[in-house]
Amino acid sequence: MVLERFKITGKVAIVTGGTRGIGLAIAHALGEAGAKLVVTSRTDKFGGLDSLKKAGHDVSFVESDITDRNVPQKIIDYTLDKHGVIDILVNNAGVAQHGEMEAFTDELLDKIMNINVDSVFRMCRSVLTPMKKQGGGVILNIGSISGLVSNIPQPQVAYNASKAAVHMMTKSLASDFADQNIRVNAIAPGYFRTEMTKLSKETEHWYPTWDKMTPLNRMAETEEIGAAALFLCSPASSYVTGEVLVIDGGYTSR
Ligand code: NDP
Repeated sequence: MVLERFKITGKVAIVTGGTRGIGLAIAHALGEAGAKLVVTSRTDKFGGLDSLKKAGHDVSFVESDITDRNVPQKIIDYTLDKHGVIDILVNNAGVAQHGEMEAFTDELLDKIMNINVDSVFRMCRSVLTPMKKQGGGVILNIGSISGLVSNIPQPQVAYNASKAAVHMMTKSLASDFADQNIRVNAIAPGYFRTEMTKLSKETEHWYPTWDKMTPLNRMAETEEIGAAALFLCSPASSYVTGEVLVIDGGYTSR
């Protein structure tokens, strides 16, 4: 009986940044549980879309830059035109940028905040009307342990602040829209092996520090996030809202 609660057969799910990395793993998990997928990103240069199709999922792709102010509404409109409803929204697209505080440019600050904070705000704002109209829905935001602790050795004040904003947006929306049957949660991942965490020659010495600071003593593979995302997006978590679920191999327990 309990496995029934993880089924989302026929539900419509948007995953931003769903063409690679963590977003792709979440799209696979939701697709496997029966969801119809709409994935978005600027490119599909790593073949994520193909892998979703090969797995037999019902998937469509909205090629778009989420920092364009008009794009969030366009993604919502596209999905409503195609499927008539939006049951699940996963705000995953994000960017990380490190850099010494004193030399951190306004351009970099704007880039991080536009993608990690403003676009998440706009996606949520645009999806609320249809979700309210249809009697409810689920939003899952991808935050970070960087929104909870100041991780080292990389200097990344702007990124950390952006992810703390995602966590607070999650709690505020959960509180404000619970009476409309809209649940809003976040996942705060630790270090996952993705394009984002591929390091350059100058910074690859960070890996041992990350491993050492993680009780499980390794980075995570993207497959290790799918089940948790499915939990938060399905009726299995029907009494969970406003939660930031940490998946970090124990990093923040120290
Ligand atoms: P990746 O860089 O591997 O993937 C990021 C995804 O976001 C890609 O699909 C990318 O596609 C999309 N994206 C980036 N910029 C834009 C944009 N302007 N418009 C539309 N889509 C965009 O990152 P991860 O999978 O590692 O990260 C996913 C999320 O998880 C992010 O929010 C990140 O902050 C968070 N996270 C990751 C951690 C990790 O260790 N990897 C740890 C904690 C949090 P494209 O470039 O083609 O547009």
